[in-house]
Amino acid sequence: MFKRTVKKKVICEGYGLHTGEFSRVIIHPSSEPDGILFAKKIGNTLRYIPLNPDTVKSTMFATSIGNDQFTIFTVEHLLSALHGFGIDSAIIEIDGDEMPGGDGSASLFADAILDAGVMILPIKKDYITIKSEFIVEYNTGYIKYEPANTLSIDGIIDFAHPKILKQHFTYFNTPEHFYSELAKARTFGFLKDYNTMQSLGLAKGSSLENTIVLDENDVINPEGLRFQDEFVRHKILDLLGDLYTVGKPIKGHITAYKSGHALNHLFVRKFLALLEKDFVTEQEILQPSVAYTLG
Ligand code: ZN
Repeated sequence: MFKRTVKKKVICEGYGLHTGEFSRVIIHPSSEPDGILFAKKIGNTLRYIPLNPDTVKSTMFATSIGNDQFTIFTVEHLLSALHGFGIDSAIIEIDGDEMPGGDGSASLFADAILDAGVMILPIKKDYITIKSEFIVEYNTGYIKYEPANTLSIDGIIDFAHPKILKQHFTYFNTPEHFYSELAKARTFGFLKDYNTMQSLGLAKGSSLENTIVLDENDVINPEGLRFQDEFVRHKILDLLGDLYTVGKPIKGHITAYKSGHALNHLFVRKFLALLEKDFVTEQEILQPSVAYTLG
């Protein structure tokens, strides 16, 4: 397998889900060894932030990346599309502070990448894997890793809401499976949490156009759901995006129970910590699974 970039530059624009502000994003082709680079003009100079776990700034309700010069909010749906299509190198230039939200799924970015086309680079793809299984826990959720030759994700959620309840979906990371089964799954929220989110300065751009909204008993969007299990599919979409903050594509089978951005980020951190050990002593890696709990 070889590295991939987009064939030509492509533009995505629209309003952010949390800030409600307009932004314009250009996805540029790149053969840089740095992989995915975010870029923004500060004054007259284009400044860059590489995609890696150290540039992840916040995982509250969405994933943001930044440095001391600027922050870009809600990058996970774009990252999911890049990961799903296997795009290793690209420059993501943003004019704004938050990725455009589109319809709350990854469709805006997936369609843009399809529109640009994919170019194969003459550089071998650099997958990473760990030899032993491990589990990361956070609140009532967990993410389990098992070594495998491809990336697949079993997502499980369990909400005490009659329209959600327990849902399980298995995703295999290929461009075809991503586009047909995951890309269109929208973000969701509960009407009862809306005021809290707003008081935290979040969900300012949220509407029925870009969020599945649930009241006590039902989905209130007039068009209903795109998949009966759209909720768990979106959770996997988010995790696929957050996994890309590792900076390289992962191989392994992942089981995610009640995952969210904070747990996803803990998983990425633990994965990288174990990866370093992987190169140091094989003995440690061959030990039984390691449980990792926050606090
Ligand atoms: Zn999401």
